[in-house]
Amino acid sequence: MNQPAESVAARDDRSAFAQSSPDHVDVLIVGAGISGIGGAYHLTTQCPGTSFIVLETQDSFGGTWLTHRYPGIRSDSDLYTFGYRFKPWTGKPIATAAEIREYLGEVIDDNDLDRHIRYRHRIVSAEWSSAEKRWTIAAERTDTGEAVTVTANFLWMCQGYYRHSEGYTPEWEGMADFKGRIVHPQTWPEDIDVTGKKVVVIGSGATAATLVPSIAPRCDHVTVLQRSPTYFIPGRNKIEIADTLRELGISEDWIHEIVRRKILFDQAAFTRRSMSEPDVVRQELLAGVRAHLGPDYNLDPHFTPTYRPWRQRIAFVPDGDLFKGIASGKASVVTDEIERFTETGIKLKSGETLEADIVVTATGFNLNVLGDIAFSIDGAPLDFADTVTYRGMMFTSVPNMVWVFGYFRASWTLRADLVADFVCRLLDHMKQHGYRSVVPALRPEDTGMELLPWIDPENFNPGYLMRGMSLLPKRGAKPEWQHSQDYWTEKDELPKIDLTDSAFVYGS
Ligand SMILES: Cc1cc2nc3c(=O)[nH]c(=O)nc-3n(C[C@H](O)[C@H](O)[C@H](O)COP(=O)(O)OP(=O)(O)OC[C@H]3O[C@@H](n4cnc5c(N)ncnc54)[C@H](O)[C@@H]3O)c2cc1C
Repeated sequence: MNQPAESVAARDDRSAFAQSSPDHVDVLIVGAGISGIGGAYHLTTQCPGTSFIVLETQDSFGGTWLTHRYPGIRSDSDLYTFGYRFKPWTGKPIATAAEIREYLGEVIDDNDLDRHIRYRHRIVSAEWSSAEKRWTIAAERTDTGEAVTVTANFLWMCQGYYRHSEGYTPEWEGMADFKGRIVHPQTWPEDIDVTGKKVVVIGSGATAATLVPSIAPRCDHVTVLQRSPTYFIPGRNKIEIADTLRELGISEDWIHEIVRRKILFDQAAFTRRSMSEPDVVRQELLAGVRAHLGPDYNLDPHFTPTYRPWRQRIAFVPDGDLFKGIASGKASVVTDEIERFTETGIKLKSGETLEADIVVTATGFNLNVLGDIAFSIDGAPLDFADTVTYRGMMFTSVPNMVWVFGYFRASWTLRADLVADFVCRLLDHMKQHGYRSVVPALRPEDTGMELLPWIDPENFNPGYLMRGMSLLPKRGAKPEWQHSQDYWTEKDELPKIDLTDSAFVYGS
């Protein structure tokens, strides 16, 4: 699995310069992250003969795993389920960004996907023509500024859910007065040196949990400043059943499948219990943290969230590394609110001041609805907030388009694979019947259905979704019109979607 870095770079260059874009393709995939590469694989294997290209803004593949370069960057899901179902994962379950890119690079190489990918192409607009039944996509080359136009019958949106160019940093009073550096993990500067520095990390989600153990040994001290606590699951970065099966000489294909099933089985039980007995689960999670911090460490308030488990993503802490830093005194946690920045640090509402040379704002993303692309339908600008989602994949009044939005509570890629199966089935169905367009539409029986925000905040409420909810399509009160966050129902429901249902309006 380990591939020399040179060959990854060589492949990127080859594909960037090799081919000019065709004028027209059957399918245009937006983005060469884990979803887009998966989409390309599924198209070649499930819909052979379909012409397609992948347009990608960056100069290489990987999406999240390319653009995030902060120290310690790694997955917080296991790669048996965050990896594709079709390509065995053979490393440790929690993987670094570099390992994930190597894995994706192998998928590209093994399936000759390179020739379909055009890097350094930022899509700026997409216009649907009902007369021609096709999309016209305008992109600009980020290296030459050249404008590129491609038409496509179908758009497969794999652009992720947040803006890669900049993270979300709230505005605090006095930021301009601060004499140190303020950095966001999403745009980690190459020249920053944390050695011997006092660092304050604002936020305590998965990013902070990854970054802090990675920099703490070199810093003078790292303070994690959080407004409210997060749940963590400390655990070993290994999966015993995988190791046992390897010892028995079982093939990697089998191990991948068996380990995926075991992880998903355990996660289903955990998710169910988080709903049915949240207090018990909460106590178990707190006990896991206590086991690492010792009986004398007062978990309250730093590690005792007020919300029920699973309402926000739970950060996995491999080998308890975050807690080792805290237990050693190199890192500490403060639960408080920022009053203002000062020249030398941050003044808190409690009156305390945190001195800092560097402040890291691990404060999240800017939600980006469909790649910041200006969409229009027959000349009229499209506002996705006016549409209703069909199972979180398609949108009313938007023809020939599918969006891949993965799971929050399970690995993203589980859904990317399921959505890919749906797209391939839909494309086949259209081909068989000679249909040139498909658009979801509310059915007569949906008349009067209540329209709600994209996600139920009672169910899941991370900041970036709450901030961006008004930009997102609506959901209806029936399963067809909702973005279910439940892998365990979708794995059975999505393959059974009846493509002749009147929710799909086809055109010839
Ligand atoms: C630090 C971090 C860690 C994460 N860890 C996990 C994890 O462990 N498990 C998990 O399930 N999820 C995790 N996630 C969520 C993660 O983003 C997804 O799981 C997954 O990587 C998303 O893949 P994607 O291909 O859908 O989107 P992305 O990785 O966002 O890739 C989208 C690609 O589309 C390109 N693009 C966007 N707009 C345009 C445009 N207009 N024109 C051309 N190209 C465009 C982008 O440049 C990018 O390369 C993590 C997210 C972050 C930020």
